[in-house]
Amino acid sequence: MGFSLASRSVVQTPVYRYGIPTRSGLSVPSLARIRNIRLCSSSSTESNQGIASSNSSGTITTVSPQSPRDRHDDFPEWAYNQKDKPFFRYEIIHQSAISQARVGRIHTPHGIIDTPGFVAVATNAALKGVDFRTADQAGQQLIFANTYHLMIHPGSDIVREAGGIHAWTNRRNQPFITDSGGFQVFSLAYGSVHEELSSKGELKRTGGKKKKQAGKHSDMVKVSEEGVVFRSYRDGSRFLLTPESTVASQKDIGADIIIPLDELPPYHVDRDRLVDSVDRTHRWETRSLKEHLKNVQNQAMYSVIHGGIDRELRTKSIDYLTSLPFDGYAIGGSLGNGRQELKELLTWMMPLFDQTPHRRSKPRHLLGIADEESIRNAVVHGIDTMDSCYPTRIARHGTLLVRNKDDPSKPGTSIKIRNQENARAFGVKIDDECQCTTCQHYDRAYLWHLFKANEPIAATLAAQHNIHYMNDLMLRLRQDIMEDRI
Ligand SMILES: [Zn+2]
Repeated sequence: MGFSLASRSVVQTPVYRYGIPTRSGLSVPSLARIRNIRLCSSSSTESNQGIASSNSSGTITTVSPQSPRDRHDDFPEWAYNQKDKPFFRYEIIHQSAISQARVGRIHTPHGIIDTPGFVAVATNAALKGVDFRTADQAGQQLIFANTYHLMIHPGSDIVREAGGIHAWTNRRNQPFITDSGGFQVFSLAYGSVHEELSSKGELKRTGGKKKKQAGKHSDMVKVSEEGVVFRSYRDGSRFLLTPESTVASQKDIGADIIIPLDELPPYHVDRDRLVDSVDRTHRWETRSLKEHLKNVQNQAMYSVIHGGIDRELRTKSIDYLTSLPFDGYAIGGSLGNGRQELKELLTWMMPLFDQTPHRRSKPRHLLGIADEESIRNAVVHGIDTMDSCYPTRIARHGTLLVRNKDDPSKPGTSIKIRNQENARAFGVKIDDECQCTTCQHYDRAYLWHLFKANEPIAATLAAQHNIHYMNDLMLRLRQDIMEDRI
């Protein structure tokens, strides 16, 4: 009684074309899902998996902290057999003789990903300042698009009607990956996690002002066992993101690799809450996987391993999630306070992925890290892909990546093209070795001028170079692994 879901004519917020407003003002992404979703109230929700509540400041409390038991009979037998999923395959080409590093190829329905490979971030299905064609020519293979942004605008149904993200962007023969949207939603709750765990690999402590802002926004998110309620950054409308609804949205978008819903706790969380959070993440990821397997649609799903820097929890997360029929593993959650903690984490954690042939046979993705030093460290510990918006973001501000001239096997450096010293750097390339279109045609002096004059092309030329640099770096690392140098 009360409201009808029979027709899309009930939509009252046409900006969110995928959303169906409900009596409580929430929107959910799919008509098919709506009868199965219990919309959570602002105070608490009870479900058959436990009772969870969130108070007005967004703090999560929960009982029933157990992860679901390892119940293989919950999943069809074929889901465990990669041969029954021929559209997606990871092939190891060479295992380094001196480290965990490996060279491989991920075969997807839209092309190959050479690994180790850098994954560029195209938040709104567009790279900042760089056309996909140019990026592809620079060797860019896998590109990461954000479900959260595409759900809010233009709506995942629009992408579906366009024929999926490959047809929509006309990038038809290269692979995409999408995330669940959870990362952005939880960033609203806990302040900018993205800033906290900056892509330079260092933890940025939020100052007083930012903390206040984080507090102000924290009531934007309500977490329950069912999922997360959040407000659109565009007009404040409320949305419900569940383990099932993110899969529905990612089916609409149609990327080659998709990600289940996970919870991202704040960095400074106490252990009890971290335990609860990891267990909830396991339950959510299990639900997402079940939903995905109902209609695989030639998509692969990676799990997201959680547990922060806690050995016991990370180990538990790996043991549980690798027992389920996921197609690959993403390393998520808190990766530590800076490069050193990340290094320590990978040092003891990554060998767990080599413990069995089954685990070794799947690709591993490191979420949100792509500074060169961290990449080099991740690669020797057997990470296959990693994503970051860092190269394109710093390009917009005039920071350009350059090789280490003294020793190309060591991390490179960067230059600030806006510095006055570049005003007369006639004939000086950004990087003598670089074969990108920017370096082939322009010198530092002209680029300095374009940046100082705020010409829009400046950011494009800089981003083109940085994307090329990252892909060339990965190429060099693959060669180093092939020859057992790293
Ligand atoms: Zn260049």
